[in-house]
Amino acid sequence: MIKFVFDLDGTITKVETLPLIAAELDLADEMKLLTDLTLTGKIPFDKSFKLRYLILRNVPLKKIQDIMATVPLDEEILAFIAEHKKNCAIVTGNLDCWIEPLAEKIDCEIFASTSELDDRNSPVLTKILDKGTVIRELKKSCDKIIAVGESFNDVSMFEAADVSIAFGGVHKPVDAAISVADFVVFDSGALCRLLKNFLPIGEKKPMQKTLVLIKPDAFGKNHSGDILKIYEDAGFKIVAAKVMRMTPELAAKHYAEHIGRPYYPSLVEFMTSAPIMALVLAGDNVIKKVREINGATNPAEAADGTIRKLFAEDKSKNAVHASDSPESAAREIPIFFSAAEIFD
Ligand code: ADP
Ligand code: MG
Repeated sequence: MIKFVFDLDGTITKVETLPLIAAELDLADEMKLLTDLTLTGKIPFDKSFKLRYLILRNVPLKKIQDIMATVPLDEEILAFIAEHKKNCAIVTGNLDCWIEPLAEKIDCEIFASTSELDDRNSPVLTKILDKGTVIRELKKSCDKIIAVGESFNDVSMFEAADVSIAFGGVHKPVDAAISVADFVVFDSGALCRLLKNFLPIGEKKPMQKTLVLIKPDAFGKNHSGDILKIYEDAGFKIVAAKVMRMTPELAAKHYAEHIGRPYYPSLVEFMTSAPIMALVLAGDNVIKKVREINGATNPAEAADGTIRKLFAEDKSKNAVHASDSPESAAREIPIFFSAAEIFD
């Protein structure tokens, strides 16, 4: 098995997290000094981390986690990880309990420095993670390790990995990382394209799929042909299609998250009032792109050229439905189609 191993801070996070926390706490200068010394390799990561931990250990954990929850992450790298979760891992020197809110958003295994909470709910550092050691352990069960990082602390990981990529999407990778790296990449799109080349043919990701419903208004007015043409012209494949009538039970399943909303009864009445066309579309990034092609829920707010601008009447009779996330697509497609009805 191939494993992609990512550093967290400054690789997946779009800012360094510990300086951000320090800034909120008026300790920015002290933390900047330590970060600079670490990034340039003047003090080793474990010493620097211990000092940073000592600065922050008395800050209530909840406060640190609240700040962590606001840290922006690289969406393209996150999407790559979500598509290849079994092949991905995060290796970070940051503390497990501090990064919990970030870990919840990243869908793969995570190795971090560890802590135990004392009776005041403050973390007590139990082990500073050594990235090189983690890679050597992972190697026992992996054929190839591809490491992505940017700082001095990633050098031991680069040396132990089979392929290393210095990533400059957030800041320029440190020279020590560049000098042992096989690749230096400055853009997350380029990084993900490069990573895909390492996947064995058989493990290439299946085409992404989304559920589309041509709702009773648009289907009844014979707009299906026009709508299908728009999706096909955008490069998507129709891998499943059927004309059907939604039952109230099916509507309740499909629109489960809307039960209780004021518009829910009229939504179900509308969706069950006449036949619809259910589709599964497949293609690169199809979930996000089809949402863009469909336009805003309210046609008055939909951009020119979108299906809802062209064919929708109002925000309930709005011509089309499309899954809004990979999780929604995974939940919604089996409501309408069995595996045997999907030709991807
Ligand atoms: P979308 O279809 O763009 O994903 P939502 O998931 O928010 O939008 O809502 C699901 C459907 O419920 C909408 O497509 C629309 O038909 C209906 N709906 C949502 N909000 C309203 C509203 N405020 N009034 C009437 N119908 C609504
Ligand atoms: Mg929706």
